[in-house]
Amino acid sequence: MTVFKENFLDGKVSLVTGASRGIGREIALNLARYGSYVFINYNKDEKSATELKYEIEKFNGKCEVMKFDVSNSVDVKSSIENISKEFKKLDILVNNAGIAKAALALRFKEDEYDEVMDSNVKGHFNCIKYCLPLLLRSNSSSIVNLSSVLGITGDMGNSVYATSKAAILGLTKSIALEYASKNLRVNCIAPGFIKTDMTAQVSEEVTKIVLSKIPLKYQGNPIEIANCILFLVSDAAKYITGQTFSVDGGMVMR
Ligand code: NAP
Repeated sequence: MTVFKENFLDGKVSLVTGASRGIGREIALNLARYGSYVFINYNKDEKSATELKYEIEKFNGKCEVMKFDVSNSVDVKSSIENISKEFKKLDILVNNAGIAKAALALRFKEDEYDEVMDSNVKGHFNCIKYCLPLLLRSNSSSIVNLSSVLGITGDMGNSVYATSKAAILGLTKSIALEYASKNLRVNCIAPGFIKTDMTAQVSEEVTKIVLSKIPLKYQGNPIEIANCILFLVSDAAKYITGQTFSVDGGMVMR
């Protein structure tokens, strides 16, 4: 059973960054399932992005694969220009692409610091900056940014990742304030511990500790994030902007 009307995103155009795998993949699938045309962005994993395209086409969804590195402003700008040649507007931007690198601050290497900040913060900013002209041509558009529970709570061994994700909270509020008068809403999701390649790297020992801190007692699934995003981009959320939603089984409270 679904709370959303079939094809309620008909006529909408969406861009989901980092949609080849994990949470982004599920977000792109969900948007396409409800009728949106979806640009599936990836950086390295062309095979998975193409497989997703075929999966969407199986249910007659409409989509296109688009390679660019979110941290490279030249790359982002020219890719968005290509969207504007095809469509006069963009309705939904989901800034999902991101990477995680864990190490204690004393051991964190400068080039890795730059890599995390460039992918997670500059990447969000680049996509917002270059998509804005297209988003403002829609009469009701929406951006959803991906932060993390760690951006709210901080975490031992994750200072750089947590810093990058905390930055997204400020970015979300600032862009929400800048463009509310144009009916562009900007919100943020702070996922908890979700089953993807990113968390597959976490050791069994740490996984056990993290699971013990989740009040709802299980590791989240990408669809649980994607469903919250579906709500945020829908008219049901038309009075919501500048907010962060924790989708984490209650983890942020522990
Ligand atoms: P994932 O499984 O590692 O997938 C990451 C995705 O981001 C891939 O599609 C990857 O594309 C893409 N990507 C990475 N760097 C990119 C770049 N520079 N340009 C374009 N695409 C890039 O990660 P995930 O777990 O789904 O996480 C998705 C988002 O949720 C991230 O922002 C992450 O920080 C956030 N988050 C995840 C969790 C969790 O528990 N999983 C928790 C909190 C927040 P390629 O494969 O093509 O490289």
